[in-house]
Amino acid sequence: MRYHAGVATTVLVVGAGPTGLTLACELLRRGVGCRIIDRAERRFDRARAVDVQSRTLEVLEHVGIHLRVLELGSKLEGLGVYEGASALAHLRFDNNNTPYPFAVALSQAETEGLLEDRLTELGGHVERGVELNGLTQATGGVTTVLGTDAGTTTAHARWVVGCDGARSAVRQLTGIEVEPNGTPYTFSVADADLGWALPTNEMSLFLGGSGFVLVAPMPGGRARVIIDGEPGEPLADLGDFAAACSRRVGAPVSLRAPGHCTSYRVRGHLAKVFRVGSVVLAGDAAHTFNPVGGHGMNQGILDAYELAQELERVAQGAPPDGVLARYAERRRQSAESLQRAMDFEARLSIARAAIPGDQRSRLLELSVGCDPLRRAVLDSAVDMFRRAKW
Ligand SMILES: Cc1cc2nc3c(=O)[nH]c(=O)nc-3n(C[C@H](O)[C@H](O)[C@H](O)COP(=O)(O)OP(=O)(O)OC[C@H]3O[C@@H](n4cnc5c(N)ncnc54)[C@H](O)[C@@H]3O)c2cc1C
Repeated sequence: MRYHAGVATTVLVVGAGPTGLTLACELLRRGVGCRIIDRAERRFDRARAVDVQSRTLEVLEHVGIHLRVLELGSKLEGLGVYEGASALAHLRFDNNNTPYPFAVALSQAETEGLLEDRLTELGGHVERGVELNGLTQATGGVTTVLGTDAGTTTAHARWVVGCDGARSAVRQLTGIEVEPNGTPYTFSVADADLGWALPTNEMSLFLGGSGFVLVAPMPGGRARVIIDGEPGEPLADLGDFAAACSRRVGAPVSLRAPGHCTSYRVRGHLAKVFRVGSVVLAGDAAHTFNPVGGHGMNQGILDAYELAQELERVAQGAPPDGVLARYAERRRQSAESLQRAMDFEARLSIARAAIPGDQRSRLLELSVGCDPLRRAVLDSAVDMFRRAKW
């Protein structure tokens, strides 16, 4: 597929992360013309999302890559919650309303690779090294300024979708403000081989007096380990990271190379609106969550799927204002309620979960009594369970 300056594109997708790739695949599959650009010369291979949730798998079935996801990934069937060495609860992702009553452990890089292969099969490709630097809306569409090594060009599109991540240029150039969500948290994350006998078919969450440790098994015997950061606890290497885990778990923890650890300070945000005129936002450009809940990539893929459906309707003659307003409202509400669910409401939902009474009271006690970050982690974990179940 070739594009020429001056020829209008139906949809310009800015950003080829999981959100933009899903959107481009779904638009092409539905026969809606689109162009997808990314300023990066190659795909990121950084440690980010590690799980594909059940609803996302349903969407990826439509996209046509679910079998590859199941083949490359490994099933996660629940979450074990521990206090020190004692098991407090086992939450199961055993929802009967989905053909996929589990999550799949698969790195974001691999999920993006599968999406990009699918895009090629559908006749598209990512134009890499192309950065959106400007946009102006007028009746009938958007004129964009695109920068490449060879210089600057202008391109016209009927719709521009910002899938360009948390610092979205599309969002900023359109003047859409973001609302911060919750307290900023510091997390440290390591991907390493575990010298620790934990189940490989479920995630494990340790809630100790000095912090939490969340372990998400990954294919090939590796695991993503996330802990809450503490001021005065710099983690220079994997040895420091393992020591911090041991303090939280109350027992020796062994993590082996190859592995790396990184610390993040994050605060969720939510765009005030998801659409202005011909410009629409999806994925991290519209909302971010703390990484512990494992929602960002999953939510972005669901946004993209829903938006592609609506843009198909528009291409078939439906009035764009109603159709796109519906997308913008529904997906904003979904992101907002997900952010809210990571707080008090989700804690209460523990009471509805099928957990034996004594374990439930201990969980609630812990949840109410622990600091905001640990509470948010527990809330996220419970929310995953609740969303899978109801
Ligand atoms: C440590 C960590 C762990 C995480 N774990 C999970 C998890 O377990 N589960 C989960 O669901 N999510 C997780 N997330 C969140 C997840 O990684 C993000 O939500 C996801 O990457 C968002 O996808 P996106 O496509 O919306 O944006 P991005 O992945 O950020 O992609 C945006 C793309 O836009 C491009 N771009 C930016 N600006 C421009 C421009 N001006 N012009 C052209 N291109 C541009 C960028 O190069 C990039 O390729 C985690 C994140 C972190 C940091």
